[in-house]
Amino acid sequence: MKGRDTFKKLREQRSRFSLHTQFTMLIAGVVLISILSAFGMTFLFEWWFPIFTKIPRLLEINILSLIVAVIVARIVTRLISDPIQELRDGMLKVSDGNFDVQLETDSSFKEIQELITGFNMMTHELQSTEILQTDFVSNVSHEFKTPINAIEGYTTLLQNAENIDGTESDYIEKILLNTRRLSSLVSNILLLSKIENQSIPAHKETYRLDEQIREVILALESAWEQKEIDFDVDLEEIHYFGNENLMYHVWMNLIGNAIKFSPQAGIVKVRLFEKENKIHFFIEDEGAGLSEEAKKHIFDKFYQADTSHKQEGNGLGLALVKRILAMTGGEVFAENLPVKGCRFTVILGTK
Ligand code: ADP
Repeated sequence: MKGRDTFKKLREQRSRFSLHTQFTMLIAGVVLISILSAFGMTFLFEWWFPIFTKIPRLLEINILSLIVAVIVARIVTRLISDPIQELRDGMLKVSDGNFDVQLETDSSFKEIQELITGFNMMTHELQSTEILQTDFVSNVSHEFKTPINAIEGYTTLLQNAENIDGTESDYIEKILLNTRRLSSLVSNILLLSKIENQSIPAHKETYRLDEQIREVILALESAWEQKEIDFDVDLEEIHYFGNENLMYHVWMNLIGNAIKFSPQAGIVKVRLFEKENKIHFFIEDEGAGLSEEAKKHIFDKFYQADTSHKQEGNGLGLALVKRILAMTGGEVFAENLPVKGCRFTVILGTK
């Protein structure tokens, strides 16, 4: 992450002048100094030796050399700076996790050719390691699913069996709870790996976004009822063209988190509206909000700022939300509210 942050900073602190301009300015500066010194020398020469009327065409020669130097500098620096700029753009893509970058160069400088070849070899290696890793993760997760489902099924049967005493019932409850956590972790890893491999069919259809959000709130009823949470909901009727299944995960995670991090009997405010051709959704809770450190990392995989809720999650929810929205051209961000709690905002670009 550190490397990526540094690159982001670099991207923000773009030099005011390109390498190309800097080279040209340097050479022009040198020639300008030589013209000024030529002026000085001409003046001194005429002053010291007035019998010789003029130094032959010193100034003209210098002006000509300035023009030639600028033209030559432009050509040479273009040959050097163009591939460097291309390399910088390629590096930025790699730092954003895109290893599918191959550069081409027709530069005749050996060093530049070696640099570009080295970069291409690096991205090729990174790409093959990534494919290996994601294939492994997705295969292992698949293999985990069947035994987990079997454990969950048999434990549910045990729960309903006769002759079970209180302690045994407690044990069964704990097995079920942890099996469900494991099952949700595996499902999230699988979904994340599918999204990252872009192997999810981009099936899109028009559906009612407000109805989907209401459905999610209802699906989480037992959780918010247990905490006596009051929902303040105002959703505009919005017809959205997108992948319904994937968007379901977005609302499930954001609304689930608001409930999870709300205090007992807190209020959760949910809004959905259209403004300036964009769909806006936000959810506010009255929880502890986010620390400066958490704000930077909540969308990272496996990040959990609040350790007291570790048991109830796996730190993949917001990473999924971020990637799903990136896929659909939307965005998500979080901010603290002035008094207490925080707000998560989702902006969707297309209807
Ligand atoms: P988890 O499964 O732990 O909820 P998420 O990826 O959904 O994982 O969230 C990552 C972390 O972001 C959480 O562990 C929590 O520390 C923080 N977080 C998410 N939503 C909220 C919220 N509404 N209020 C405070 N902290 C939050």
